[in-house]
This record gives sequence, C-alpha cells and structure tokens, in this order.
Amino acid sequence: MSLIVQKFGGSSVSDADGIRRVARRVAETRNAGNDVVVVVSAMGDTTDDLLDLAIEVARKPPARELDMLLTAGERISMALLAMAISEVGVPAQSFTGSQAGMITDGDHGAAKLVEVNPFRVREALDAGNIAIIAGFQGVHRSTKDITTLGRGGSDTTAVALAAALNADVCEIYSDVDGVYTADPRIVPSAQKLDRVSSEEMLELAANGAKILHLRCVEYARRFNVPLHVRSSFSHNEGTWVMPTPHENFTPQKEIPLEQPLISGIAHDRTQAKITVVGVPDRPGIASRIFRLLADSKVNVDMIVQNVSTGDRPMTDLSFTLDESQGDLAMNLLRAAEEKIGYTSLDYDDQVGKISLVGAGMKTNTGVSFKFFEALANADINVDMISTSEVRISVITDVSKLDTAVRAIHTAFGLDADNEATVYGGTGR
Ligand code: ADP
Ligand code: ASP
Ligand code: MG
Repeated sequence: MSLIVQKFGGSSVSDADGIRRVARRVAETRNAGNDVVVVVSAMGDTTDDLLDLAIEVARKPPARELDMLLTAGERISMALLAMAISEVGVPAQSFTGSQAGMITDGDHGAAKLVEVNPFRVREALDAGNIAIIAGFQGVHRSTKDITTLGRGGSDTTAVALAAALNADVCEIYSDVDGVYTADPRIVPSAQKLDRVSSEEMLELAANGAKILHLRCVEYARRFNVPLHVRSSFSHNEGTWVMPTPHENFTPQKEIPLEQPLISGIAHDRTQAKITVVGVPDRPGIASRIFRLLADSKVNVDMIVQNVSTGDRPMTDLSFTLDESQGDLAMNLLRAAEEKIGYTSLDYDDQVGKISLVGAGMKTNTGVSFKFFEALANADINVDMISTSEVRISVITDVSKLDTAVRAIHTAFGLDADNEATVYGGTGR
C-alpha cells in the first residue's frame, strides 16, 4: 500500500462542484488501495478577499490577527472537503495545521516550519480515514499563536507532511496540467515539461513561477520527496520535479542536446525599484544602505551602481525588491538620510522581472545574445540585468512584461503547436 499526499489549490475547490470533484478524485485514489493525506487551500480567491476585508477595517492589520483571519479560509475548505468525501462513502477527518503538528517560528505571515509532528494524521490513517489538513498554517512553538507560511504556502505544507510521513509521492494539483515553459495564461503556446530538475524548478519558483511555492521545492529537494505537479481537472500525467538534479532528466524532444537547454521563462509583476540618487562613492556606503535594509528583513534582489563622475565622486545606487516591502524600505532610507548622505530617493513599482532558466546555460554560449536580441526586436528596453549559472534575469517596464515573455519564448524555439489548457482560476 502506498501513501500519497495530494494538495489541491484554491482553483480546484472554488465552489461546491469543485469540492465534490476533488472528493471523488481523492476517493478514487483511496479505492485504488492507497492511504491518502490531503492538503487543501482556501476556496478560490478567499485569501485575497479576506485580505481586502482586513484592509477595509484597519490600515495596518496586526500580523497576529491577520494570520488568525487568513487561516479561516483553509479551515472552511478542509471541513467541506471532509463532508464531501464522507458523502461518497469514505471516512474522512479534517485537521488544522496546529492539530496536524505543523510547528513554526513566530514570524507571522512568513513563518518557517521548525518541527512537523503529524501523529494525529497517522492515527487518522491507521483508523481507516482519509486525513485532510488545512494548508499554509501552523502554530508558534512557544506562544501557541496561529501562524501562516506565506502566500502559496499550502504547497509547502503538503511536502512537509509527505516528508514527515515518508509518503511515496506528493501530488500538487492545480488548474493547469503541470509546469510549463512559461505561464500558459500569458503564453498559450507554452509546452508542458514532463520532467524538470529541482535546480531549475527552484530558479523558476524563486523568480515568479507561482505554480509551486519556492519553499516547497527547497523542502522536497532536501528531503528527497518526489513531486508530481498535475491538474485536478484532468487525468493527464503532469510534471515530475526530480529531486536529484540532472539524473533521469530528459531534454525536450525538439531541442538537440548540443543546443542550449532552456527549461522555461518565469515572470514577476510584483517588483519595485528604488534608486538612491547622489550617494558618495566611497567604501562603506553600500554596506550602510544594505545593512539598514537587512536589519529590517528587506529582501533585496538585483543591485546596480552607476559610474560616478566629478572630483567628489557621487553615484546612484539602484536595487529591486518585492513591492510589498517597498514602503518599509523607503521609510528606512528616509529615516537614514543624514547617515547615508544621498541627494534624493526614487521609487518605481511599474517594473517587472523576466528570467530565462536552463541548466544548459552553464555550458552553452550565445544564450545571452539570443535573449537580448529577442528583447531588442520586440522594442523592449532593459533596465537592470542579473545572471547566475542557470539563469538570466532582466527588469523592464511592467507593461511590456507579457510581450517580452512571449518574444523570448518564441526566440528560444519553445512554442508548441497546440494551445495549453488553463482549466480554471482567475490567476489572481
Ligand atoms: P493553486 O491555487 O492551485 O495553488 P496557483 O495560482 O498558485 O494555483 O498556481 C497555478 C498558476 O501558476 C497557473 O494557473 C499559472 O497561471 C501559473 N503559472 C506561472 N508560471 C507557470 C508555469 N511555468 N507553469 C504552469 N503554471 C504557471
Ligand atoms: N490560500 C493561501 C494563498 O492564497 C495559501 C495557498 O493557497 O497555498 O496564498
Ligand atoms: Mg499555489
């Protein structure tokens, strides 16, 4: 008998029909002779709706209360799903994150798992039940306050449970058939990948491909959990994220082995760019700026320093970050104006990031050329650039992002003949 963890995202359980459909799918897996643990997200756009509501009643909702509120979304789905599964004749019990032993630190809104003790889940399985766990939540080890793991964190709940229960596979069910060469909502000609190495999946997830939560990919790699990303709306085989990089990795059929091996393009609309204008160009200034930001947990992504000119050299320092941290970073910099000694600050949240990811870049030349040529041909101006061994990222005007993704996708020969199916969801 196998143990399978199945995670269903919000779009799979957006209404009563969806919940019934998922219930049948879970029962089918169980009736095929498997033990099944289910992790479920909030219905449809519930989490966003709850967040909107919070902001209507308070300009800055206290983080503890926000977590309390948001975890309610997953509790609704878990109980409804347990009812729907019982209805099709299979016993099911639901558990909150804290009941399922998801112990975290106290960082509300971005809590990290510190321990996973799913003994109640094990007991429920041993008693013949399907166990359903509310995703993306846990409980702080010492204060016992309820925490959340961050947006999209139900994927991480699923992988953490799969690791703790020694499951045979962790299936992530969404509204698309798997991981594609680009977001199929933007690039209808995107191709589904049969397999992707965890190294490449990490780069895709870290750079905005929200099909998988970044921490879920890291966790799966660390604990060697086989991940299968697939759709709850079809029975098609999805994408396997291989825990060991490269092993068993089959390149896409159309791309000969000698050519650069691209796995996909990720995009991220939630970027912002801050420029600190007129800072003295001498040792210690950059460290002062980035220390200030790091002390308040501001996550800086790309950094560019302009060439300085004049007798008393001054320079401009630009960096990008997630726009959710934009206000915080600007306030910190404003408060440190004298200490840093800059002329002015500039803030731009109308920027986005595009990243081309592929392990083949390590050994192939000409990838950068093709990438920038595609952008130039599409008349897209590049604002900032960063590269790693397996990735090239650029910052551009957010209004040009979709065109840029499509242009690069075509330039690298990734376009498929058929249109990718997006089964549901609003993409919010
Ligand atoms: P869920 O509610 O199931 O967790 P998400 O909305 O978090 O679903 O993630 C699924 C969405 O991720 C898809 O609908 C798709 O628009 C988006 N996406 C972004 N990049 C990719 C990609 N490379 N492959 C597949 N889907 C992607
Ligand atoms: N419901 C949460 C969110 O929308 C968690 C998740 O879906 O994974 O971010
Ligand atoms: Mg998700």
